[in-house]
Amino acid sequence: MSARFHITIWPGAQIPVPPVSAGGEVELLDADGSKGGPFLVIEGGREPRVPPEELYLREIQELDVEDVGEFAAFTAKYGRLGASGWGEVPGLYGNLLHSRVRNQIDKKRDSYFDSYEGDLFLWSTHDLIPLEEIALHVHLLRDLTRVWEYHKGLLSFDDVVSSWENRLWYILRPEPELTPEEEAEQEQAYRRALEEEDGIGEEERALRVRRFLEEQTQPIIDRPEEPADLYMFLHEFLAAGLSDFHARPIIYKVQDDGTSVEFLEERPQVSLYGALCLQLANHIVEEAVYHKCEKCGRLFVRQRGGAKFGQHRMKSVLYCSPECARAKAQQEYRKNKSQATRYAKEGLSVEAIAAKMDRDMEQVRKWIKPREAK
Ligand SMILES: [Zn+2]
Repeated sequence: MSARFHITIWPGAQIPVPPVSAGGEVELLDADGSKGGPFLVIEGGREPRVPPEELYLREIQELDVEDVGEFAAFTAKYGRLGASGWGEVPGLYGNLLHSRVRNQIDKKRDSYFDSYEGDLFLWSTHDLIPLEEIALHVHLLRDLTRVWEYHKGLLSFDDVVSSWENRLWYILRPEPELTPEEEAEQEQAYRRALEEEDGIGEEERALRVRRFLEEQTQPIIDRPEEPADLYMFLHEFLAAGLSDFHARPIIYKVQDDGTSVEFLEERPQVSLYGALCLQLANHIVEEAVYHKCEKCGRLFVRQRGGAKFGQHRMKSVLYCSPECARAKAQQEYRKNKSQATRYAKEGLSVEAIAAKMDRDMEQVRKWIKPREAK
């Protein structure tokens, strides 16, 4: 039995993306990761900035999560991805995979914080941001985007699964029931395997057996197995990413001379991750179509740059930016020019070249005109 899925965003209107804090000094700690890092520490960074449009669809898709320096530069420019305390990922997963990933990261952060002896004053563990945590948010944004691409028919289900990145989503899917004999047999096999392992105490052994039995009847699935899984992921994770959007006061502190504007609050509640989830949600609201730039291959909805006062050139959907449009035009020009010149050298007439290349003669004359004869 198969079903089709329909996505809407309630209440069905686009919400303007609010400013998030950006522009701080970003310091990199434990860059080689020998103490559980790398970590980023943001100093200052209360400058209100609205993230560039389509940031989730452009820069986020290209971020190299292995590149520590790139991450630091990204954070300094656009702000911190992810709210402190995992506030924007669904918390409904109890004590399994999801929280194992989170706990590991939190543990590394806490132990680094406890042993930190530098002169930099950290306010709390929350100011120490593990790169791993930021990377998880990047993975989530990319997986969410791919689900929308799948929904719009741009990616197949297999495409999405083979590029699946995040380690947070999973479901428990009940197995078809085992017979009591099969169950007992598997339990015995597991107990024998445990006995062969050294250094496991009685208590630990009992715990593991209990977990084994649980997982045996409800295995953890951490990769989507069917389209419904993709929709379930979008449903849970996009909802959690959007949970901070409600009416709120935003208060800025402005210097008398107007030179500096910053948030009054230390940590504004809307994070960059939330803002980027909102960018995606706004695209879903308008049923946005992703285009692939014919020059650089990047995804985009509207051309960036060159548009004034929020007006976008909906017509030009071939290139992601004026730069790519220009580069492509130059490339075409050079290609045509050398093709036309070749024909001319072979002795073809202007008329013949125009016919061959399906262009008018005026254009061909420009291509084959010797440079010095301007
Ligand atoms: Zn481009």
